[in-house]
Amino acid sequence: MTGRIAFLGLGHMGGPMAGNLVKAGIEVLGFDPFPAAAEAARARGVEVAGSAQEAAEGASIVLTMLQAGQQVLDLYRGTEGQKGLLAGAAPGTLFLDCSTINVDEAREAAAAATDAGHRFVDAPVSGGVVGAEAATLTFMVGADDGDFDQVRPLLELMGKRVVHCGGHGSGQAAKVCNNMILGASMIAVCEAFVLGEKLGITDEVLFDVAAHASGQCWALTTNCPVPGPVPTSPANRNYEPGFTGALMAKDLHLALQAIESTGVAAQIGPLAAKMYDDFLEHGGAQRDFSGIINDIRDRSNR
Ligand code: NAD
Repeated sequence: MTGRIAFLGLGHMGGPMAGNLVKAGIEVLGFDPFPAAAEAARARGVEVAGSAQEAAEGASIVLTMLQAGQQVLDLYRGTEGQKGLLAGAAPGTLFLDCSTINVDEAREAAAAATDAGHRFVDAPVSGGVVGAEAATLTFMVGADDGDFDQVRPLLELMGKRVVHCGGHGSGQAAKVCNNMILGASMIAVCEAFVLGEKLGITDEVLFDVAAHASGQCWALTTNCPVPGPVPTSPANRNYEPGFTGALMAKDLHLALQAIESTGVAAQIGPLAAKMYDDFLEHGGAQRDFSGIINDIRDRSNR
């Protein structure tokens, strides 16, 4: 299908994703500077190099799964004392970034890669660690048509849905819009449950009505923020994630940057970002993002 893959960033998402490629018989050489992440990937059968440069040498695809856009740009272009991967790669190498980063940074990475004679695809994911383990992720892909055709079979080994969203940066654009809906709709669902409680209806009654009415949404019917109606939702295990408050805040800040750079007159998205910042200050960083209902309850009981 393809030559060797350099897999850079073997964390919560990258580790199982790289493991799924190895399981499918793809040759992978990974790297992660965090020894525990590298070790966990080795336990999944991933061969691990001593540096990103070593992993990338001779690879046909350089896949990154990092926390932030600046890390991707630094790896590509290099930093003081660290040679950039773009400079060392064979002409035409495909740089595939699956991290969630800002749309402008993705376009900057695309320009840097293509200026250096390479190709670039942004392919952020949704589906979380569970989807990474089970190879059921959704990939939102920004790519030229030919590059999309090349990466699609590879992405299908790690996910169940691969959507071509447009040219460079479009995958990140789709992801940031989707997650702004998610952050805002979770807050709306949480406020509705607290309001229902204050008005004297039970959580079960509100769920029974809204889940089958126009209030229906993923935040309600899959990740329900109150225990009971959806037994698998994180609310039933004291808001163990799931999708953490820290990641939701990160994604809403990416949405804020996109709103600012485009001049969209959004109000709910920025307010949701502020509410998630407050949630982090109240210990929400490592809780499931639906735990924000407790902030809303606390403020309602003051
Ligand atoms: P993580 O922090 O667990 O993993 C990132 C890894 O990158 C770390 O192990 C870190 O040591 C490594 N790293 C940093 N610099 C590096 C370098 N120069 N070379 C190689 N590795 C390097 O993060 P994660 O949860 O795996 O998330 C990865 C990306 O996926 C993020 O952009 C996140 O927003 C996105 N995402 C995460 C989830 C989720 O549920 N965790 C869901 C969807 C999307």
